[in-house]
Amino acid sequence: MTSPIDAQSLLSNHDLADMREDILHWWSTEKREFPWRETSDPYKVLIAEVLLHRTRAEQVIPLYDMVLSRFPDVFALSRSTPDELSQMLWTGGLHWRWKLLHAMSKEIVTRFGGEIPSSFTELTSLPGIGQYIASAVRCFAFGYPDVLLDTNSVRLVGRVCKLAVTDSSRRSLLYRSILQVWLDRQHPQEFNFALIDLSATICTPKAPRHEECCLRAYCGWFRCWAVSRETGNSS
Ligand code: SF4
Repeated sequence: MTSPIDAQSLLSNHDLADMREDILHWWSTEKREFPWRETSDPYKVLIAEVLLHRTRAEQVIPLYDMVLSRFPDVFALSRSTPDELSQMLWTGGLHWRWKLLHAMSKEIVTRFGGEIPSSFTELTSLPGIGQYIASAVRCFAFGYPDVLLDTNSVRLVGRVCKLAVTDSSRRSLLYRSILQVWLDRQHPQEFNFALIDLSATICTPKAPRHEECCLRAYCGWFRCWAVSRETGNSS
């Protein structure tokens, strides 16, 4: 099994401090604005992350506002009726998520007195809360230096480090270790937001925009692409 030491050595030729600075500098001018990025309220962050799971951010914006204005806290959400919640989410095509939100809010009230827990174990013990959502809540609401592994972040890591990306990469210790090495522990929230935006807008699945990317200097995929372009083999 690959260890965290291997991840460190994989990146030892890069100047990590420069890379972190380049990522945060890019993000300072190119960040996407979303309402859930303007708060560290654990309840609002949790609602946003549940709605965002496998869903485009633009699709979530109106739902996020609707849910929070009708259910401003976890107690109100726990008292919601299935009809009310599912109808609200129906408009955004996320009606199947109402059961999860409802069960989750009830457990937060009964087991944690209405406080959103900050421990990874407690968060992942809630209905429907997996590793990604738990880490996102810990980072964006509580400031913990957790890394976020999803399809987008492993694609970006895989390209920079020239690693094969498979369906299991999101659960890979190697990928997790690399992101832990990369993470700016002074600014974990900004850094994670920056990677989310970079992978969503620049290092896209098809036709990545290498020429505009702040990671060009560190990226194995870009080096191969640049060489093949020079030799006339780029696609
Ligand atoms: S240089 Fe290209 S492949 Fe590398 S991270 Fe940037 S967009 Fe992705």
